[in-house]
Amino acid sequence: MARRQDRSRTDEYGTAPYGSDPYGSAPHGAVPPAAPAIELRGVCRSYGRGETAVRALRGIDLALARGSFTAVMGPSGSGKSTFLQCAAGLDRPDAGQVRLGGEDITALSENRLTKLRRSRIGFVFQAFNLLPSLTVEQNVLLPQRLAGERQDRSRARQLLERVGLGEHASRRPGQLSGGQQQRVAIARALITRPDVVFADEPTGALDTRTAHEVLDLLRQAVDSLGATVVMVTHDPVAASFADRALFLAGGALVDELPYPSPQAVADRMVALTARPVGAAA
Ligand code: ADP
Repeated sequence: MARRQDRSRTDEYGTAPYGSDPYGSAPHGAVPPAAPAIELRGVCRSYGRGETAVRALRGIDLALARGSFTAVMGPSGSGKSTFLQCAAGLDRPDAGQVRLGGEDITALSENRLTKLRRSRIGFVFQAFNLLPSLTVEQNVLLPQRLAGERQDRSRARQLLERVGLGEHASRRPGQLSGGQQQRVAIARALITRPDVVFADEPTGALDTRTAHEVLDLLRQAVDSLGATVVMVTHDPVAASFADRALFLAGGALVDELPYPSPQAVADRMVALTARPVGAAA
């Protein structure tokens, strides 16, 4: 298992190593620290209006360093999906800002946002979401194709090698197991060297052993490629592959655990589930 490794890694993104205090103030005359991969400031999102409005996010403040792996957890209805949608530019907050690589994406037109999502955000979904009519390699290249970028076949091949599917490039998704399909989805999410990879319950449809393999690959994407991964999960074991677990309850970030163990995460989840929705931390 490839859980958190030391961070002396090849950083193909060319970014400063994680742990170099990306948010702290630089000493006078020093090069300013790199912007966080993603930053949320005062992000609010409600559904409906008036007395029946549901406040799904109540002011989320968060900055995630490049090359970090974060798990977002919380009871059902705590706002995880809304968080993911707003952070990934799939939905617009009612208030607050989302900054991707230092750029405020909340102000962008729908067109620009769509373009930005294609090139600067990677997605891994529970249901894999591969296109059945395309080959594995074409699926991996799809984000570049949609973004109008040059399709980098050698990078696609390298990523497929990395996820252990070098021999399967010309197969169709239907000829692969669920775990293999999710590996293709990980390669696809990395092809454009995105600022952030969002993974939504990436192991929800997999058995335990296959789930571990997929989590290992996400971990390696962070440790070896310098990717930034944000994973929504309800599984404490999955969360233990992350550097940090964040806990949502009633639309607010109420807790966090650095280097979370499965047991510690499970204990926090029990405590949160017992707490009335909307109660303060
Ligand atoms: P989670 O992913 O943690 O289950 P969600 O972000 O889906 O939480 O939901 C947060 C809150 O917002 C819940 O109370 C949910 O019922 C509500 N909600 C989510 N989507 C909608 C919607 N489209 N319309 C109305 N309420 C919604």
